[in-house]
Amino acid sequence: MRYVILGNGPAGVNAIEAIRKVDREGEIINISVEPYRPYSKPVMPHYVGGFIPYEGMFFRPEDFYDRYDVTPILGDGAVEIDIDRSMVILQSGRRVPYDKLLIATGGKPRELKVPGHDLDGIYYMTNLDYTKKIMEKLPETKKALVLGGGPLGLKASLSLSHHGIDVKILISSGQVMSQVLDPDSAKILEKKLDESKVEMRLRTWVIAFEGSGGRVKQAVLNTGEKLPCDLVVIAKGVQPNLDLIDPKKIRTNVGIIVNHYMQTSRPNIYAAGDVAESYDILTGGNNTVAVWPRASEQGYYAGMNMAGFEKPYPGAHRMNSLDFEGVSCIVMGDVKTVKKGFVVIIQKDEKRNIYQRIILENGRIRGAAIIGRIVNVGGINRFIRKAVEIGRVKDALLEEKATFIY
Ligand SMILES: Cc1cc2nc3c(=O)[nH]c(=O)nc-3n(C[C@H](O)[C@H](O)[C@H](O)COP(=O)(O)OP(=O)(O)OC[C@H]3O[C@@H](n4cnc5c(N)ncnc54)[C@H](O)[C@@H]3O)c2cc1C
Repeated sequence: MRYVILGNGPAGVNAIEAIRKVDREGEIINISVEPYRPYSKPVMPHYVGGFIPYEGMFFRPEDFYDRYDVTPILGDGAVEIDIDRSMVILQSGRRVPYDKLLIATGGKPRELKVPGHDLDGIYYMTNLDYTKKIMEKLPETKKALVLGGGPLGLKASLSLSHHGIDVKILISSGQVMSQVLDPDSAKILEKKLDESKVEMRLRTWVIAFEGSGGRVKQAVLNTGEKLPCDLVVIAKGVQPNLDLIDPKKIRTNVGIIVNHYMQTSRPNIYAAGDVAESYDILTGGNNTVAVWPRASEQGYYAGMNMAGFEKPYPGAHRMNSLDFEGVSCIVMGDVKTVKKGFVVIIQKDEKRNIYQRIILENGRIRGAAIIGRIVNVGGINRFIRKAVEIGRVKDALLEEKATFIY
């Protein structure tokens, strides 16, 4: 049996480890377009901020491939999947046949194609090459702009401000993390930005960049204002990387649609991680959620099933976590929808940076945004996952010392 794994992020790596639990003999080939051994994207902003060393970004040891008896092909990405011949064609022209293929090619940044977008000094921070370029520019950067008020934009702003750079974060909506937080809870994170000397501009976006000598010098805003900058980090989210996929041959929607066995519409081709659109236990449908734990879990289930150990993926729900200047923020499930009949429980203590909001539908938790006090997150998460009718526990959910037996 020859397993070919495209991508060595958490989905690809967990798939490899799962396959080896079941199949010690099969050949495993791991292909990545990047030349690096597995590294962690969530810690890239910490590296930029100077909080961890370069080596701290790699989440598996150097001998990972030897230990798991895997042949790595790094720095030579796939350019085509020839489904009829069951082979992957690489940039170099090399052809790699497979019996079972996993597509774990992650996400790619939402691009900002305004005039001047290709000037030097404008980066995405979505991979290690970009991150290294940002690091190279830091010594000569006095003013930086970060575009996007999601978790990545917030983390990137703090990393840059830590170097004493004048950082402005431009957010097109009216608050930070508008996709998952309500305005009140967002204020806690906005306060932290302010304390970190990051200037926040709301309802503001870039319509063009201007430069000199090929290098970015200023950004033109929707308001007509021009902001000088030597560095720009675009953090407007990611979308599934479907570059390799012919939607006539593999079923896609926003991402690659997979079943409970992480199989695509082609039974010997699997998908996992940010590229996959998988089962959501809250909606009962499929969706894409670009977070590390979900990618890892899906990789594990894909690997198990590829190796013939039938293990249906139970599904997941939306979950995002962020540690922001000492304030933990965890968002689970659907916190945006509030319909007639839903119950919303809110508890806040602004002085202690605590804000908790839980949404119930028919006595079951549909979503929760928990900021500042996360002791009960494990219990709440379980309640969502198992669709537990919480009854009288409702009043204890946000207590400081609540204990749940679940
Ligand atoms: C800056 C940043 C901060 C983040 N912070 C958090 C966080 O705090 N918490 C959290 O849960 N999540 C966070 N995420 C998201 C998290 O990193 C992703 O959800 C996770 O890495 C997805 O894993 P994956 O294996 O699906 O894809 P990725 O980790 O993106 O890996 C994709 C792999 O595919 C390879 N590849 C791509 N195209 C090809 C090709 N054509 N051929 C071969 N290989 C290819 C890439 O080189 C890479 O190895 C963050 C992401 C970023 C960018």
